[in-house]
Amino acid sequence: MTLRCVVATANPDKAMEIVAIMSQVGDVELLARPGDIGEIEETGDTLLENARIKALALCEASGEVAIADDTGLEVDGLGGAPGVWSARYAGEDATYDDNVNKMLTELGGSDDRTARFVTVAFAAFPDGTEIFASGEVVGQITTERRGEAGFGYDPIFAPDEADGRTFAQMTATDKNAISHRGRAFRALAEQLGDMGLL
Ligand code: IMP
Repeated sequence: MTLRCVVATANPDKAMEIVAIMSQVGDVELLARPGDIGEIEETGDTLLENARIKALALCEASGEVAIADDTGLEVDGLGGAPGVWSARYAGEDATYDDNVNKMLTELGGSDDRTARFVTVAFAAFPDGTEIFASGEVVGQITTERRGEAGFGYDPIFAPDEADGRTFAQMTATDKNAISHRGRAFRALAEQLGDMGLL
C-alpha cells in the first residue's frame, strides 16, 4: 500500500532529509509543501507542540496526511539551552552561522560539551488522527567547525556513536542512520506500519 503525505517543513535542508529517511521505510509518496502556504508560526513551548502545530496546519490546508518535525539541540554546559529555541538562538532572524558562532562563544573553553539533538516527528490525518514519535542522539559540541555537509549545527556536533566526525563530515546516509531525525521518523513509520498504512 502507498501512503501519500505532504512534508510540512518549509526548511529545504530538513525536507531533503525527511524524504531520504521516509523513502527507505516503505512505499511512501511524498508531496512537496504547497508553495502558497505561508510561514507557520511556531508558538509552542515544546518540540511536540511545534511539530503538532506545523502538521495540523498543513493537513488542514492540503487535505492530505501531513508529516512535520521539530528539533532542538540541548547542551549540558548551557543548562539545556537552546532546546526548543534552537532556530532563534542568536535572535529572531539568526542564520545557521550566527547560531553556531553564538554557541561556540557561549561555551568558550568549557569542557562540559555534551549535547543531544532531539526530534519530534508528527503525522496529522484528515480524519483527525494524530501520531508522533521522538528520536535523539547524544554527542559533543566541538571547539571549532569541521565539515561542509549538512546544515545548522552539524559542523559542531560530533555524535558519540561515530568515530569523532561531526555530522557535517558525514554522508547523508551515515548521518540519517544515527540521527535524531532518522530515529524519530523511523519510529513514526513503525507506528504507521502498525496502523496498516505502510
Ligand atoms: P527546527 O525548529 O526544527 O527547524 O530546528 C531548529 C534549529 O535546529 C534549526 O534552525 C537548525 O539550525 C537546527 N537543526 C535542526 N535539525 C538539525 C540537524 O539535523 N542538524 C543540525 N542542526 C539542526
